Amino acid sequence: MSNAMPLPLYAIGLGSNRRHARYGDPRAVLLAALAALVSDDIEAVDASPIIASDPLGPSRRRYANAVALVASQLSPPEMLVRLQEIEANFGRRTGQRWSARTLDLDILLWSGGAWSDASLKIPHPAMAQRAFVLGPLRAIAPEWQHPLTGRSIRQLAARLTRPKPVDRGASAH
Ligand code: ATP
Ligand code: CA
Ligand code: CA
Repeated sequence: MSNAMPLPLYAIGLGSNRRHARYGDPRAVLLAALAALVSDDIEAVDASPIIASDPLGPSRRRYANAVALVASQLSPPEMLVRLQEIEANFGRRTGQRWSARTLDLDILLWSGGAWSDASLKIPHPAMAQRAFVLGPLRAIAPEWQHPLTGRSIRQLAARLTRPKPVDRGASAH
């Protein structure tokens, strides 16, 4: 019997900048992570191309990044727990933020809208400033509207790549 209510959608950001002994380089880690994400209660909907991006913070290794769209009835806290289990299965060590890591899985967006508690914020607070998030996300969900700003992913991505306007107050035209 088909279910009349569509399942909630999540956009999940994937990042890796460390080889995995079994899976190989960061790109291969992301492909394995995409497969690991799918389970009885998480359906794959779409996945972006994998891009290479420069590191953020103290680590000098290049990142592989991608975004996956998945459909799931899991609540946001349940989804976060699931993502953290997958990170742990990929050998992620806890510790320094932004240090080299085998796998980082972030919840970027949820079709239920916004969520905010002590350990989870949706939309991901930094997503609108990150080209390595908006680029892959635009490839698979350009019309998705950021629930707090109302701007589409396409608009947010364009804002990020556009050169900053000069100070309008000082400009005559
Ligand atoms: P950033 O959040 O800036 O991308 P990070 O991914 O390196 O940094 P982590 O060390 O992986 O940060 O996570 C720190 C904490 O962020 C997690 O323990 C989790 O509770 C919290 N968190 C808050 N919002 C989210 C979200 N939307 N997705 C994943 N984790 C989140
Ligand atoms: Ca992250
Ligand atoms: Ca994270």
